[in-house]
Amino acid sequence: MSNLFENQIPLMKPWLGLEEWEALKDVVLSGWVSQGPRVAEFEECVASFVGGKYAVATNSCTSAIHLALRISGVKEQDEVILPDFTCMADANAIIMANGLPVFADIDKRTYNLDPKRVEEKITLKTKAILAVDQIGLPAYLNSLMEIAKRYNLVLIDDAATSLGAKYEGKYLGGHGLTTTFSFHPRKMITTGEGGMLVTDDLQIAESARILRATGASVSDLERHKKKGVILQEYYTDGYNYRMTDIQAAIGIVQMKKLPEIIRQRNQQAEYYNKVFSEIDEIEIPFVPPYATHSFSSYLLKIKKGINLTPQDIITRMAEKNISCRFGIQPLHREPYFNNRKLSDADFPISCDIAKRSFFIPIFPGLKEDELKYIVSSLKEILLKR
Ligand SMILES: *Cc1c(COP(=O)(O)O)cnc(C)c1O
Repeated sequence: MSNLFENQIPLMKPWLGLEEWEALKDVVLSGWVSQGPRVAEFEECVASFVGGKYAVATNSCTSAIHLALRISGVKEQDEVILPDFTCMADANAIIMANGLPVFADIDKRTYNLDPKRVEEKITLKTKAILAVDQIGLPAYLNSLMEIAKRYNLVLIDDAATSLGAKYEGKYLGGHGLTTTFSFHPRKMITTGEGGMLVTDDLQIAESARILRATGASVSDLERHKKKGVILQEYYTDGYNYRMTDIQAAIGIVQMKKLPEIIRQRNQQAEYYNKVFSEIDEIEIPFVPPYATHSFSSYLLKIKKGINLTPQDIITRMAEKNISCRFGIQPLHREPYFNNRKLSDADFPISCDIAKRSFFIPIFPGLKEDELKYIVSSLKEILLKR
């Protein structure tokens, strides 16, 4: 296959190499390719890195969130509050659990759930809050935990893009909350597709393990080790949300690279911050003192009153062979939710940020001359209007 990334700087690119290739060879030759020892090892790697007790690997983050919601007892149109400024996967997971997604507006600096807006959305039907640590920045977890406690709600933290980001000095996943991660190539590390649920609660971990594998009380690997003499039983229905050992083998290698991935992304972000903070037309990402950013993406915002749209910038950057993207779009506006009659007026921040923001490339392996080219190209577009 030819290089898909030829002749342009992509928005992002996974950091994969011969180490992953070698790990794959071992799995294939071992003959055990479905969920097995490599998945268990990968779970251990992630749990010990983030400081959580138990990790349960899944085939995607969407399924991990679905499991977390189902285990929390979300059912029959129970309301689950989530940010308006996030991807459809979060709403999908709520819908899969038979819940009703209830959108809340975000904070204008962090682009994460505004706890005040969350509180306004709580009704007698509210069952859970699905917080999102958007594009690598931890949400206001303390305030959300306090609200969840006060109203007796479950709080789930979707850290899909934020593996390796810290909240108050501890990695996400290490705060005792049920936390989910994604291993899609657009996230911090990748297994092609994949997800993980991290929890300190043994009961939640056990339920997640059973639900991800058809509801069976015994795993394939256990049965194999006992040479088939144990019979699995079903006390619940379930899903096939298993990760394969092929994916997990890649994940184990990727976890070794994670500290370097975080370092490179932060170094690139620092360079962008330095240059772009001196340009009047745009605003750089805000990092509050309580957090460190994983910079799984780098989002710039055009200042109010500047006569340029993300569309203009993305188009002109594309002409220079640099791939940029629109910022996250408000979920309440998606045609799927038309029957809910949701109004833009209820989500002023989410609508405003969506209208003015755009992503520029950031990924491990992005070279210094490429960074400089991205910066000079964007400066030219912004300054020579
Ligand atoms: C990517 C993403 C997801 C979905 O992850 P998948 O692994 O693709 O299911 C969920 N939530 C957020 C915030 C994401 O960025």
